[in-house]
Amino acid sequence: MFEKILIANRGEIALRIHRACREMGIATVAVHSTADADAMHVRLADESVCIGPPAARDSYLNMPAILSAATITGADAIHPGLGFLAENAAFAEMVEEHGFTFIGPSPDHIRMMGDKIQAKRAAREVGLPCVPGSEGAVLGDEAALKLGREIGYPVLVKASGGGGGRGMQVARAENELHRAIATARAEAKSAFGNDTVYLEKYLDRPRHIELQIVADGQGGVVHLGERDCSLQRRHQKVLEEAPSPSLNAAARDRIGARVVEAIHKLGYRSLGTIEFLYQDGEFYFIEMNTRLQVEHPITEEITGIDLVREQIRIASGAKLSFAQEDVRFEGHAIECRINAEHPETFRPSPGTITNYHAPGGPGVRIDSPLYAGYKVPPFYDSLIAKLIVHGRTRNECMMRLRRALDECVIEGIDTNIALHRRVLAAPGFIDGLYDIHWLEELVGGKKG
Ligand code: ADP
Repeated sequence: MFEKILIANRGEIALRIHRACREMGIATVAVHSTADADAMHVRLADESVCIGPPAARDSYLNMPAILSAATITGADAIHPGLGFLAENAAFAEMVEEHGFTFIGPSPDHIRMMGDKIQAKRAAREVGLPCVPGSEGAVLGDEAALKLGREIGYPVLVKASGGGGGRGMQVARAENELHRAIATARAEAKSAFGNDTVYLEKYLDRPRHIELQIVADGQGGVVHLGERDCSLQRRHQKVLEEAPSPSLNAAARDRIGARVVEAIHKLGYRSLGTIEFLYQDGEFYFIEMNTRLQVEHPITEEITGIDLVREQIRIASGAKLSFAQEDVRFEGHAIECRINAEHPETFRPSPGTITNYHAPGGPGVRIDSPLYAGYKVPPFYDSLIAKLIVHGRTRNECMMRLRRALDECVIEGIDTNIALHRRVLAAPGFIDGLYDIHWLEELVGGKKG
């Protein structure tokens, strides 16, 4: 097992990884930008190294600085967390070349799944159902028009290098296709430096359901059930729950078995998430994330399995510590992503936290780097806390979550707590009858 791990990240996820390390008796090294010198992940770590100025490209994306920090502190392994360098195959390669272990999958798998066109091809080859669409990149307008007719409108133009919901444009009819492609290309070019796009059938009312898998690369592959992440704004997840109110045990076992078989065929190692759209009882693969996910705690809550610990064990060469038949799904869990943003305009709201009180009591977990006096910097993601609640039933979970949201005090900045309260009071959510458009309709005033 590793003796010292460098955590190449910040915020709540850096804390989460630190906590797993601490429980395993592994020393931690935090890295931070000058803007994060007083951050909780730095305060709790055994050692810390400043790796650059505030801008992420100069610090959390600064590969030579991170590798130097690992060298001078004598770390054995590097955990990339999520975002930043977590899905950068070149970084994973560099980490290994410098003699450290990368806590994640092989660079080849990261590369394969990082390109959505390649990922869909791979998924199809290992027997996963995909959203109907173009086999590969869309080259010219002529080819796109022909494809559009074959797929049928509405059609979604997606960026092959896409992520974070960017580079996606809907064409409702043929006369919108040209503009949709041009806009998606421009957006993708500026966000990812790659303007390759492809076409997909635009599903009108799907749910976003993803399967968590864990594989040891030595024959052990287990799925840990699904997460329903349909509550989104601008294709970004806001609140997630497990299990999904729309799946029963038989449907879960069926898709779980298919995914496990596919992961075996891919020869994948580490944690992974297979994302599907789910409509009219059918699953359609959209992408695979080759890293820890923001919403991983709800899976931990219903399975009792520490995913980060398992990920670290596997990276150190251990086999999975459990088999599929050992996995039991107990109760229900919901996660609210609490962001530093205005609840109506969604404008980011960095600033100093003047007062902070975390909710507690039965079934309540908070993953957050906040403390009174902490200054939320304006340079990074607006996620400042994850409130995760577990109950024996979905109803108990919702009751607890409403209570926990009421207890939560975050003053000095704006947060989206009011939005979570609204969701928890809406009949559509209470009945579990929602899809990927539901939240935007609620915000827009069309739903109750
Ligand atoms: P990203 O990597 O940018 O997050 P994804 O492919 O994971 O992109 O899709 C993000 C979200 O966009 C999905 O959860 C869903 O809400 C929506 N979406 C993606 N593909 C489709 C599709 N073919 N039809 C309808 N909605 C889609």
